[in-house]
Amino acid sequence: MAAAPSKQAYVPFVSVAHMMQLVHHIGVERFMADLAAEIEEDFRRWPLFDKTPRVASHSQVGVIELMPTSDGETYGFKYVNGHPSNMSRGLQTVTAFGLLADVATGYPLLLSEMTILTALRTASTSAMAAKWLAPKGAKTMALIGNGAQAEFQALAFKTICGIGEVRLYDIDPAATAKCARNLSGRGIEVICCTSASEAILGAQIITTVTADKQFATILTDNMVGAGVHINAVGGDCPGKTELHHDILMRSAIFVEYPPQTRIEGEIQQLAGDHPVTELWEVIAGRVPGRASAREVTLFDSVGFAIEDFSALRYVARALKDTGLCEQLDMIADPDDPRDLFGMVMRAG
Ligand code: NAD
Repeated sequence: MAAAPSKQAYVPFVSVAHMMQLVHHIGVERFMADLAAEIEEDFRRWPLFDKTPRVASHSQVGVIELMPTSDGETYGFKYVNGHPSNMSRGLQTVTAFGLLADVATGYPLLLSEMTILTALRTASTSAMAAKWLAPKGAKTMALIGNGAQAEFQALAFKTICGIGEVRLYDIDPAATAKCARNLSGRGIEVICCTSASEAILGAQIITTVTADKQFATILTDNMVGAGVHINAVGGDCPGKTELHHDILMRSAIFVEYPPQTRIEGEIQQLAGDHPVTELWEVIAGRVPGRASAREVTLFDSVGFAIEDFSALRYVARALKDTGLCEQLDMIADPDDPRDLFGMVMRAG
């Protein structure tokens, strides 16, 4: 009997170059606004997702993590690292790539770079949370930590929350200068500050997005006035936090997935039964968000797999008819499924 020919099952792959082109094709602000809507939709159907704290492999200098989830039809995962010391070696603190697959067959549907996509989805998620939690009419945001994530955060808050002024601070003035340069001409007023205390002056929203593998204190209790919304992004690993414990004790705390945030978020500093609210429940209308104008609200962001799933699915849809991907020959798929060996031999 003649051996069955082999067929090839190609998987669309979005490279860094294509992701950048896709961002330009859509527009960076529209991309983040669309993505926030996509993430919000998935938060509304939160209970039907498979959820698990991400699987982390820690070292002295950083962490490598896998973040899986599924909605029963589509499966997704992200590989991501966090290495604060990388920057001093000319490398990114955070890099990532991810995959979507068809639950019915297990076959991959999309492979994508996710370093850029993580910055976009993190900013979209932060601004989406602030839309529900920040004081009404907030116009000024302090942005502490002006590294890779910073401009994305500023622009997502501009386009999704109507922020008109960002007050920048970083321990490295070169980072602040870079951020100010990148934000100039983008319809948002930028003030460069020389301390965190100066940056928070008049801010209704405070975003902390610093990187340091230690218990840091970017904000102390006396710096946080009544009614402020804190978007704490940088503390996302055991032993890596940004806020003083006393701030947590007087804040209404909102989280993504409590079993993961209790390990990785600011709330690792609190007792395991300290009350927190799951953000999806606010979005689904099950529980209230901000209770009063004077309440301090805190989004203790660590980044959850569902946000990456939403981002990958958004990219898969946005790619259609753009040609902004390559077809990867990454699944061995013989015409006779049992003749894997024969396919290999015929290739010789
Ligand atoms: P980055 O290294 O590019 O930038 C971090 C900046 O923080 C640097 O410019 C550094 O000088 C500054 N910094 C460090 N200590 C500071 C301090 N005490 N005060 C002020 N500035 C300080 O890193 P990045 O890619 O922008 O990421 C920032 C943090 O956000 C990282 O910790 C990363 O793990 C985290 N992160 C979280 C999420 C999430 O979903 N929550 C997603 C992506 C990244």
